[in-house]
Amino acid sequence: MALPSIEQLDVAGKKVLLRVDFNVPLDKATGAISDDTRMVKSLPTLELLLNRGASVILMSHLGRPEKKHDPALSLKNIAEHLKTLLPGRSIHFSPEAIGSNAESLAQSLKLGEILVLENIRFYEEETSKDEKVRTDFAKKLCKMADFYVDDAFGAAHRAHASIYECAKLLPSAAGLLLKKEIDVLERIVSSPERPFVAVIGGAKVSSKLAVLENLVTKADAILIGGAMAYTFLKSRLIDVGTSLVEKEFLSQAFQIIDKAAYNKRQIILPEDHIVSSEFGEKGKIKTVKRSIPEGFMGMDIGPKTQDHYAKIIKSAKTVLWNGPMGVFEMKKFSAGTFAIAKAMAKVKGQTIVGGGDSIFALSQSGLEDKMTHISTGGGATLEYLEGKKLPGIVALLK
Ligand code: AMP
Repeated sequence: MALPSIEQLDVAGKKVLLRVDFNVPLDKATGAISDDTRMVKSLPTLELLLNRGASVILMSHLGRPEKKHDPALSLKNIAEHLKTLLPGRSIHFSPEAIGSNAESLAQSLKLGEILVLENIRFYEEETSKDEKVRTDFAKKLCKMADFYVDDAFGAAHRAHASIYECAKLLPSAAGLLLKKEIDVLERIVSSPERPFVAVIGGAKVSSKLAVLENLVTKADAILIGGAMAYTFLKSRLIDVGTSLVEKEFLSQAFQIIDKAAYNKRQIILPEDHIVSSEFGEKGKIKTVKRSIPEGFMGMDIGPKTQDHYAKIIKSAKTVLWNGPMGVFEMKKFSAGTFAIAKAMAKVKGQTIVGGGDSIFALSQSGLEDKMTHISTGGGATLEYLEGKKLPGIVALLK
């Protein structure tokens, strides 16, 4: 995909409006940033622009503000944290994203300086369903700059003003992070090195159906784990006790397995399970073979399945992982998820991890450095893998 590249913009002496995804998790009790990965991953784009003599007007959303100015979701704290990540850089904050004050701060910005605008979602125009409202808002943002760069992969599936309309109003390009994310995903879906194995887990089959529908024609094998495995097993009339099952999706689960077989691909389901008599670590816990007895629920993939999945993963050239294999937040049901991380760490090929839970489990296992790519996008990654066109990308390709 020929995304316009940041290198093609002659930014020296110019102002660049940069959309980043600094929507970082905040500690519920203190409000402090609990993980700044998303900020760190956009630093190369920021530095490239600054080193080329641009000044940068930075915009992002943070959380889902319900009222117009929620101090807990102000980008002021983000601007402060950015100072620690870019020591020596002059970083200013504008308490407004548009309007005369923001404009005069942008105007007085010197080369190599950064102006962080207030949370873009404090303005309902940003997410308006009315294209004209979004365009008028985007015009107010764009009048402060000469160029637009989008590095917000995590928000690329949103047709919002700062993503979609801004890209159409100014000469624009993709930032380094956005480009890398798209390059990796595009390669997976168009020409993966084979064998290509997808490991898909999580609570609900319904939220991953579209991804599975698409992967079933592309991956050589799909390994299923998490609660969604029980909907698949139940669709094949295997007893799953009191496990979480989405009854209304049984027939679709059944059909996906058929579609895989038709395409000569494999969907592999757990052959044993760690089960518990209640949802928690205090119940009666045991390992059972494929069918789960009445009064027990599946909480994690069992040791045989772990070994089997690990073997398939280790022989792959491309592995994509999204979603935990069990209730990994509880220690007794975390082995399956960690087994995937460990097996992936040994792969000699591309290993791509997406989705908040899988990334969190990976960071707990200390194996992050062993992966080729950890995606910063949750919803954006899934929508791309579903085969949908992401508005952020469409706008850049206009
Ligand atoms: P998702 O957001 O769909 O990727 O689901 C992630 C959640 O699925 C995690 O919070 C896991 O605890 C949960 N999960 C995984 N396996 C199971 C299971 N066997 N039973 C209930 N919840 C599960």
